[in-house]
Amino acid sequence: MSYKTETHLHCSETSPCSSVSGAEFIRRYKEAGYTTVFVTDHYVGSSFNYCVTEDDYRKAIELQYRGYLSAKEEGDKLGVNVILGCEIYLNKCDRLIYGIDESFFYQRVEELTPAELFAQCNEKGYTLIAAHPYRGEMRHDMNTVHGIEIVNASQKNYYRNRNELALELAEAHPGHLRTSGTDAHFIEDVGCGGIITEEPILSADDYIRILKSGKYTIIDNPPIKNN
Ligand SMILES: [Zn+2]
Ligand SMILES: [Zn+2]
Repeated sequence: MSYKTETHLHCSETSPCSSVSGAEFIRRYKEAGYTTVFVTDHYVGSSFNYCVTEDDYRKAIELQYRGYLSAKEEGDKLGVNVILGCEIYLNKCDRLIYGIDESFFYQRVEELTPAELFAQCNEKGYTLIAAHPYRGEMRHDMNTVHGIEIVNASQKNYYRNRNELALELAEAHPGHLRTSGTDAHFIEDVGCGGIITEEPILSADDYIRILKSGKYTIIDNPPIKNN
């Protein structure tokens, strides 16, 4: 038996750049044979801007969680494991974070330096992955991430991502984890990236343990037409 996991996905309820709701994505991923989906909506920094009290944070977190909760509700109905992650833009680079829960959002994440975020991850057991490390001008400091997205299968950005350079970067940093994700924003992204494993991924801990073990296969489906 093999299991497919999407590691990088954005829902329209929380990420305005996405055109697909969490629930709709889960229906499509179920059809595509996926058993686990990580929802990694963009960190909605603007809604946390003026947070002071716990109540302010709770309201901001409501928006941050909207896509995840929509996906989770559908996943519970259809038997798809839906797990919370986040994509954080810091120092001109996108980072995917795994292993977090609500407590992570009770801070002004965008005010952390990459080194502070990395230290916090090591303390709390979160994992940071450099997303599409060669898209545009992004250049990650490898000392502040645990792993590298060697395949970002976003159909719109597929060739702009320069995944071949991401693989070279991973080869130069053998201690870093390697993964694949779609960065799904549109229906045509469904099922283009992620990983295949021999055991189901039920938590962020499972995911990271399996990446460390090396027992997984990368999914990498380029667009049919050149873009
Ligand atoms: Zn986006
Ligand atoms: Zn993304």
